[in-house]
Amino acid sequence: MSVITRFPPSPTGYLHLGGARTALFNWLLARQQNGKMVLRIEDTDRERSTQEAVDAIFDGLAWLGLDYDDGPYYQTKRFVRYGEVIKQLLDQGKAYHCYCSKERLDALREEQMANKQKPRYDGLCRGRTEPPGPDEIPVVRFKTPTDGEIVIDDLVRGRVVIANDQLDDLIIARSDGTPTYHLTVVVDDIDMGVTHVVRGDDHLNNTPRQIHILEALGAERPVYAHVPMINGPDGKKLSKRHGAVSVTQYRDEGFLPEAMLNYLARLGWSSGDQEIFSIDELIEKFSIDGINQSAAGFDPEKLLWLNQHYIQTMALDELCRHAEPYFTAAGIDLAAGPPLAQAIDAQRERAKTLLDVVENSRMFYADVALEEKAAKKHLRAVVLEPLSALREAFDNQTEWDGKSLHHVIETIAEKFEMKMGKVAQPLRVAITGSGASPSIDVTLDLVGRERTLARLDKALEYIKNRVET
Ligand code: GLU
Repeated sequence: MSVITRFPPSPTGYLHLGGARTALFNWLLARQQNGKMVLRIEDTDRERSTQEAVDAIFDGLAWLGLDYDDGPYYQTKRFVRYGEVIKQLLDQGKAYHCYCSKERLDALREEQMANKQKPRYDGLCRGRTEPPGPDEIPVVRFKTPTDGEIVIDDLVRGRVVIANDQLDDLIIARSDGTPTYHLTVVVDDIDMGVTHVVRGDDHLNNTPRQIHILEALGAERPVYAHVPMINGPDGKKLSKRHGAVSVTQYRDEGFLPEAMLNYLARLGWSSGDQEIFSIDELIEKFSIDGINQSAAGFDPEKLLWLNQHYIQTMALDELCRHAEPYFTAAGIDLAAGPPLAQAIDAQRERAKTLLDVVENSRMFYADVALEEKAAKKHLRAVVLEPLSALREAFDNQTEWDGKSLHHVIETIAEKFEMKMGKVAQPLRVAITGSGASPSIDVTLDLVGRERTLARLDKALEYIKNRVET
């Protein structure tokens, strides 16, 4: 039997880290087993579901490259099917109409709480034979077995045993006829042939209820694997406070999807002590056995470290493909400077995000302002002459490449009996506006002669003004 996994987000918010990790695990399993992944939009909660959230989910999955083989299905388009199943369960006596009023249910709950009992429906309408009154509109409840127990061999959590008398007769259709979440999930998992349910362990409590419905419908159980939650760096449940609003926020902040996928995979899963995994390696090595039993901690520093790793090691043309839209979004005119690949190659070593690459490269394409602190420190009277001499030499320079420019700087440093660095650093500040850049020869090469001369003029002006005041 081929493996069929599923990713069934509720479109009530963005695709957050936990959802993306669930999608990734299901995707990896499907890809590895030559199986399929189903995408299902669980939008039955009409009040909370939005089109923006649906779009954001697609956007997040597309960014991460997590494609699906079946779907997307929308639960709101499957109401006819759910209606059939509800009728079938009623006809078979596996579900019943419940006419209990809200008042009765509230009073029942209060009484149970007062007696320190777990609040649960008492099954009053199970045996009801009386026909409904004109104003009585029923809900449909599922008849949960009252004795025995349910045993789940969860691939992550191990054996979980729940006594059936701990569960009550849950509602599968509301009074307006619409199906509830537990029913739709089960019907869909059956209809879509799902063999593996890999989901967050906040759903573990739902599993026994869903298995009862599934078995009442005569279906085979899928395999269950409940993945521990993700905590924030402070050990508490991951929240918006940690900046983890949506995976696409990381895209906007200049993270590479490869880094994000690698990070998410390791968040709660391991294979020996390996940290860096290509997608192909993840597909090859992923296994449910490697999912950790305890909650994973979100570590933004590690994500940054991985991002830096991918920026430094990715094939240059691929990195350019990723980075180019960020340059455009930052308003940089790529026609106004060196070939993009050269700029990126020069900057990748020092960048943690694509936004760093872009901002550090801006000086190759557009004017830059002098950073006050760097200027004060390095653009002083002692360098007025050497910088003027450099300006002249650059102006007369016929060859404009790293090697020749290095030679020019060396010659001027020697002439003024200064160490190379004592000349190069003020020059760097003059050219880039700041004290940090790729090697000075590469920087000059990419900035180009015209900009170099103009910026040196500005720096010389700055020094002269300083001397005079
Ligand atoms: N729609 C549910 C959620 O977004 C997932 C249900 C499931 O995995 O069974 O949490």
